[in-house]
Amino acid sequence: MQEQKARLHRELADAREELARLEEKLAHRPDLGIGEGGPEIFEWELNLALRERVQAKIASLEDALRSLEEGEYGICERCGAPIEPERLEILPDTTLCIKCAQKIRY
Ligand SMILES: [Zn+2]
Repeated sequence: MQEQKARLHRELADAREELARLEEKLAHRPDLGIGEGGPEIFEWELNLALRERVQAKIASLEDALRSLEEGEYGICERCGAPIEPERLEILPDTTLCIKCAQKIRY
């Protein structure tokens, strides 16, 4: 469990760093008035989408850390079964077991 916690903290730190980098890039919005919008606009929009993804990642990592504190880490939130350790290895912030994740996806 300690190892799992350290890993979540590490991933959270990485995600926050990434977010800070993106915020910096997004601080200067390119001028939309020129023509159809050049590669700067495209990159800006890409960073905007990336920021959303990183923010969602941070939220789910924070959730995972909270459930770790509460002793509910690694429990599928849909069926209540323990999540496969191999799955947690790859997706430490997942809240679904393999079966439920597949049901949701299809
Ligand atoms: Zn499940």
